[in-house]
Amino acid sequence: MSLKDALKAEADQLGFVLFGVAPAIPPPHYPIYQAWIKAGRQAGMAYLARPEAVAARGAPEQLLPGCRSILCVALPYPPPAPTSAESSDQTRGSIAAYAVLPDYHALMREKLNALANRLPELVGKPVHTLVCVDTAPILEKDYAFMAGLGWIGRNSLLLTPQFGSYVFLGELLTDLKLEVDQPLEGDPCAQCRLCVQACPTQALRPERSVDARRCLSYWTIEHRGPVPEELRRSIGTRIFGCDNCQLACPLNAQGIPGGFTYAQEPVVDPFPDLLAEFALTQPEWQAKYGQTPVARAKYAGFRRNVAYALGNAGDPLALPALQQACEQDPDPTVRDACAWALKQLQTN
Ligand code: SF4
Ligand code: SF4
Repeated sequence: MSLKDALKAEADQLGFVLFGVAPAIPPPHYPIYQAWIKAGRQAGMAYLARPEAVAARGAPEQLLPGCRSILCVALPYPPPAPTSAESSDQTRGSIAAYAVLPDYHALMREKLNALANRLPELVGKPVHTLVCVDTAPILEKDYAFMAGLGWIGRNSLLLTPQFGSYVFLGELLTDLKLEVDQPLEGDPCAQCRLCVQACPTQALRPERSVDARRCLSYWTIEHRGPVPEELRRSIGTRIFGCDNCQLACPLNAQGIPGGFTYAQEPVVDPFPDLLAEFALTQPEWQAKYGQTPVARAKYAGFRRNVAYALGNAGDPLALPALQQACEQDPDPTVRDACAWALKQLQTN
């Protein structure tokens, strides 16, 4: 068995459903990423524009000296729950599919560390490695593409033939030179624009990137402070993230391979009752969402989102709770969101 086959077998055993090797060369979309930063499309995510991080994204050896190969892996997650009459009820919010699971970073890191630990045993000599899980400055979709895991879609996400875009990606950088894989042929997006048409805020750009300044996922997850007024109606009843550009994609409609079990299952309701969410105290909210990606929004950011959603839902039963929070909430952004929501309820 070749070294790469042995690594693939290890990756399979660890539960990675996709595995491939990319060369540690500058990523093909690096110039697009540089232009994206130059145009300010990262919005308030200043960490994406830090000079050392921008430089590292163009040269993996800045992350791991002597880096020669990048092992790319994927763990799939369950697609968004199907909507029902109950879930489409306007008194319910919606949470992006990846965020109703326990946070995946620790699981991915643990599995990649296990793979890294096997490398020296397999080659019989010390090997330098670096585990990257989302937070390292690396253009991970580019390497996953080069490693043959999927294509980069017009929705800017990695589209895999087996699991669509519902995958978490991870990388293991190494100074070992391994046989590399080839990118997949073809382009499933060639004749398709469904995601572009489905985006409520026209955030998807022709070069297959997202303008975060228009993306509801950015505003409801990453942004602290008020959301620009012109985007608040578009938030609808989303209270964390947006799945529109994934839901529209035909590759996500094909279903997953039979006999497959996910590594993680949802731990919170994707369509929670908006008023009940708004009534959560900080300790209750922490107990409910603390281990999920929703925690990233922070309590005040989440309440801001729920307030916008209540304003958009138009449910008069929300008036007393919004009125009270508008006067008494300690966070000015929440008070502002409540005032906006009250205005929507009173004028509709
Ligand atoms: S997440 Fe939503 S707002 Fe952002 S690009 Fe996709 S469809 Fe548009
Ligand atoms: S919806 Fe169509 S254009 Fe968009 S990512 Fe999917 S296949 Fe590509």
